[in-house]
Parts: sequence; C-alpha cells; structure tokens
Amino acid sequence: MILLKSEIVAFLIVFIILFDMHRNRTIRTGRNDRFITEMIVVYIIFLSISIVAHFAAEGLIETPSALTDLISTVHFNSIPVLLLFWLYYTGVNTLPRKNRLKVYLSAGTFAYILFLYQQIRSADNQSFFLIDSNNLLVRNRGFLILILVSCLECLLMFSIVSFNKKNLTNEKFVIYITAPVVMASSLVLFYYSGNHPLFTVSVAFLLLFNHLFRQREQLTKDGITNLPNTVAFDAEIERIFLKKSKKIVFVLDIDNFSAINQRYGITFGDKVLKHLSNFLLTVENVDAAYRLSSDRFGLVADGESYNTATSIVRQINKRCEKSWGIGLKDILISINTAIVMIPKHAGNTQEFKDSVDFAVTMLKSSNKLSAVIYNKKLFLSRQRKLDVETALRSAVYNDSHIVVEFQPIFDIETNRLCAAEALTRINDPSLGLIMPGEFIPIAETDGLITRISEIVLQKTCRFIKENESLVKKLNYISLNLSVEDLSVPHIATKLLGIIDSYEIDPSIIAFELTESMLLERMKESRAVLETFAQRDITIILDDFGVGYSNLNILAKMPFDVIKIDKSLLKNYDEDTDSLHIIADMLHRFKKKIVIEGVETKEHLHYSSRAGIEMVQGYYFSRPVDYLRFEDILEENFKADINSNSQTARSKKKNLGLRKALMNFAIPDR
Ligand code: C2E
Ligand code: CA
Ligand code: CA
Repeated sequence: MILLKSEIVAFLIVFIILFDMHRNRTIRTGRNDRFITEMIVVYIIFLSISIVAHFAAEGLIETPSALTDLISTVHFNSIPVLLLFWLYYTGVNTLPRKNRLKVYLSAGTFAYILFLYQQIRSADNQSFFLIDSNNLLVRNRGFLILILVSCLECLLMFSIVSFNKKNLTNEKFVIYITAPVVMASSLVLFYYSGNHPLFTVSVAFLLLFNHLFRQREQLTKDGITNLPNTVAFDAEIERIFLKKSKKIVFVLDIDNFSAINQRYGITFGDKVLKHLSNFLLTVENVDAAYRLSSDRFGLVADGESYNTATSIVRQINKRCEKSWGIGLKDILISINTAIVMIPKHAGNTQEFKDSVDFAVTMLKSSNKLSAVIYNKKLFLSRQRKLDVETALRSAVYNDSHIVVEFQPIFDIETNRLCAAEALTRINDPSLGLIMPGEFIPIAETDGLITRISEIVLQKTCRFIKENESLVKKLNYISLNLSVEDLSVPHIATKLLGIIDSYEIDPSIIAFELTESMLLERMKESRAVLETFAQRDITIILDDFGVGYSNLNILAKMPFDVIKIDKSLLKNYDEDTDSLHIIADMLHRFKKKIVIEGVETKEHLHYSSRAGIEMVQGYYFSRPVDYLRFEDILEENFKADINSNSQTARSKKKNLGLRKALMNFAIPDR
C-alpha cells in the first residue's frame, strides 16, 4: 500500500490541473493547449496502469499469475511510451520546423521498438522483468535496458531543447529543459531503488509546471485570433535585441477595418481578423505573427534580406487582391505594411518603436504605397528637423543663441567697402552652429520667423548704433526678410518701430526680398515696401536671375538695388555673356546692381566688365562676426585714406581692385 502513495499524490496533482483548466476554459485556445490536454490523458492512463499493476502485484485484486505478469509488463512499458509522448510534446512546443521533430520521434520510437523486440525474444523464459518478494523490480538486463531506453528518450528531449535555445524565451527554455533532467535523474533512482515513486510524482509536477506556464502564456495571447498579443510582441522584440539576432519585422495595418466593422458589425469584424491571422501564419518565411491592436498585426521573419521582405509583402498583397469569403459575404481587405529590419534600422527597443512609428507615418502620408521599408536617412533628417525646431524655440526665448554675421560688399568703382549683408546663424548649445539654409524654412513653417527677423533687426541696429561713425560711410547694411514676414499684420510698423527705438537713421537699413516672395503676396508686399521706401530704407531684390525674373516687378516695385544671384556666376558662359545683357537691362530700369557669389578673380572680371557696381563673395570675405566686421570697417577707413594715391592706377585696370580691397578684407575663416 505504501507504494501507492505516490500515485495518489500524482492523481491529486492531475486533479488540480484539470480543475484549473476547467475554471479557465474560456481563455484556453489553440493547438499547444490541446497537447497539454493530450499529455494529461496519457499520464492518467499511465497512472491507472501503474495502480492496477500495484494492486495486482500486492494481491489486492485476484488475477491469474500470467495476467499479473502481463499487467506488470504493460506497466513497465508505459514508462518509455509516456516519455515518447513527452518527447513529442516537447518537440511540438519548441521546434520551429516540424520535419525535424520527425527525426527525433523516429529515433525514440526505434529505440523503443528494439526494447520491445528484446522483450518478445525473451518472452518464453519470462525473465525479462523480475519482481522480488518486496514487489521491487530486480536489477537485471531487462530493467537496465528499460532505464537506458527511457534515458535515451530524455536525452533526445534534452537535445531538442538545447539545440533550439535560440528560438525560446529564457522561461520557456527552463520549463522545457527541466523535464528531461528531472525525469532522467528519477529513472536512475528508480534503477537503484526498484520502485518509481519519484518518477511518478515528478512527472505530475512537471505537468503542473507546464500547465501553469501555459496559463501564464495565455495572458499574452489575443483572445480573438489566438495570436500572441502586443505584450508578447514587445517581449519578442526585446529578446531579438538581447540575442543580437537579425530579423525583419513587419507591422501590418488593415486600412479599411473600421469601415468593415461599421458596415457588417463587430462579430463579423472578429471573423475577418481570424481569417486574416490564419492566413498570416501560412505566409512563407514568417516565423511568428502577433496581433498588436484592433487592426494591427506584427510579423517576424528571419534575416535581413530585402528579398525576404519583398517576398513576404508580395504574398500578402497577392492575397489581398482576392476577396475573402467570410460567411455569406465576400469582402476585400486592404493592408499597409511598414517594415523595419533589426539591427539595420534600429539598435534598441526605443529606436525600434521610433522606426515603426516613422515607417507608419511614411505609409499614411503617401496614399499610393502599400508597403514602406524604414529609411534611416529620412528618419535622421526628421529627427534633425525636430532638433532644429527645439533649437529655434530656445533661440527665440534666449536670443544670445542668435548670431548675426556681416558679409562685406565692395564698390568696384571706388574700391570701397560700401555695404554689408547681415546673415543669421543659430549657435545652439547642443547642436552647435546651424546655418540659415537649414533653420529658415523650419522657422517659416513654425511661425517663428518674424520673431527671428525682429531679433536680427535689433542686433543689427545695436551694432549700427555702437559703430555709428564708421557705419555711416556705408550705403547700407541689409537684412533678409522672409515671405512669412510680409503677411504679418503691421509688419512695416513693427520693424520701423525697432529701428526708431535705436535712434538710428533708417536710411542705413536695407531689406532684401526675393522675387518669389513678392509674386506670392503682391498686394501686401507693395504696401509694406512703400512704407519702408517712405522712410528712406533701401529695398533690394535678392536672388535676381533665378526663377521668372518678372519685369513687371522690376518696374512696379520700389527697388533701389538688384542683387544678381550667385548661380549666374557659377554657370557663367563667356560666349553668351548673359551677365552683360542682364546688367544692361537693369541699368535701363535705373537700378543699381550687386552681384553675389564672387569667388574668383574671373568672377570679379566678368562682373566688372558687365558694369556691375557692387560685389559680394568669398573672393573678398566670408560673412564674419561683428568684432571682425568692426575691424574691417576700421581698416576700410584707413584704406580709404591710403588708396587715394592708387586710385588712378586701379581705375585703369579694375582687376587691381582686389589687392586694394585686401587691405581691409579679412582672410577666410
Ligand atoms: P542669401 O540671401 O542669398 O545670402 C547669401 C548666401 O550666400 C549666404 O549664405 C552667404 O554666406 C553665401 N555666400 C556669400 N558669398 C558667397 C560666395 O562667394 N560663394 C558662395 N557659394 N556662397 C556665398 P548663408 O549665410 O548660408 O545664408 C543662406 C540664406 O539664408 C541667405 O541667402 C538668405 O536667403 C537666408 N538668410 C540668412 N539670414 C537670414 C535672416 O536673418 N532672415 C531670413 N529670412 N533669411 C536669412
Ligand atoms: Ca540675401
Ligand atoms: Ca542671395
């Protein structure tokens, strides 16, 4: 009777498992669940045989001795058979490909058949298993073979799990590897004790652990589709990073799911999700599918090949071209796919989330594409844009980040520094120097540009005020205005208010505007420009020669100076000499001309030959900070005196100009 105790304990444990399964039956779903149920059934049969065998052996039930022998033979055979089932159970739950399971199962079955064969061979002399007077199995050859075959099955289980460690979560690995280790140890003990209470009870406990583990896994499962849910997906992503594996992750978005739900009802919507998830599991090369939210699915595939990615998208798109017959209805599902490769596109979980978000936004912003592979360059440029936006906001708040540089402009005729252009940079504590080409477009869309224009004007006015006597010798210091500035109500009054607050002569200020700005807001611009003109502010048409070069604007707007764009020098062709033609035309309109982008002696030569009055460019000086510009102003004042003796010579040959100018031009920075 003592020997039966372990079976009773085992039965109790099985009862607990069954009770718990019954209690939670609503959340139980799926194939893997069936396996644990099957395993429990097999185990109950094993226990029953074991109990009958004990009863028979102890004489508690009357059986002829031949039957008692048969019962005990079946009883001992039930151990390797139970292990074969467990081997199957382990394989199903851990092997990614089922054909490998066949290999393991065949090996186990083959060993068991050999064992059976041995028993049949020795059936006539009845000595394969021997039981002593204490009802314990005698350690003979038969017993040893039983233990060896059973241990071999444990070894097969062990190798299945350890060779597939990389496909398993740590938890799953521990659960599945414990079984063969515990079972094999208890079998060895069985061999030395002649009875198997430890084996019986430990198998019951292993079943209980497996059951509890499954239950826990259910919490990460989606109730409708049976797929693992977003919690499981996040855990999987973390695991991918932890193991440094290479994976392709797909996030699928059903475009028209809410429409389907609204039209046919939620129950039908659920069916659609089930059909779709069943299909997703059949897509070739896909390792796992997840349901992430109501209309979002995740897929994970091995590797980082674009071919795999496209083949998967192609399979999905191909399926979605056909309708889905669900119940009596035929519907079409439209799916968008965002693809992120790990680690190519993301180095950690946060980056992964950002990449998915970005790829999904890319998808949403283009209504033509059905799949988008994450693009790191695009992402970085968006990231950079966000950073610049932040830098702009803090610069507007703390205007010491806004730096105004001045680029000298020279008069070809008189050899003098005659003007300057104020150019803005942002010096951000974390991003460093940001150039206007980058931040002006962002400031324009963010509505920060006018605040920047105001700050730049304030800083320029302060500089003018502080260097009034030197600056007075210049024709103007110009500032660039943006198209957005022109649409701000009372912008002219605001800017004039700033100039007046510094008590400087407004005629020293110039504003540069581009043609495209004016075309965009013809009416407002005209009024604004006229207000400036009334206060003697110089108005400059910037970047002339790119775009339309609308003569109407030249004639109707109050421009004093036209600035020819640097592209004209860059693409200068001596044969056509368009520079000459343009300069002649502008002179007919009685405009003064500045040319920018003078980088070489040749550029200066062409400009001078075309009769252009003013030159600006790297050949003379890059934009410089206000301290250097102060020096340049002072140098210019000295040069002004020195150059009187040179005037005659340099007038004869304009190319001598640079030398004279270099007295006050500062070297490139
Ligand atoms: P822009 O008005 O055409 O200014 C001239 C640009 O050409 C400046 O670039 C200047 O550094 C550059 N440059 C000067 N000489 C040469 C040369 O010899 N060769 C070449 N390749 N480039 C030369 P920067 O400072 O990067 O400014 C770029 C643009 O940003 C400016 O073009 C202007 O449109 C805008 N900008 C600058 N500051 C402001 C501002 O305060 N407000 C507004 N609204 N726009 C500004
Ligand atoms: Ca300009
Ligand atoms: Ca320009």
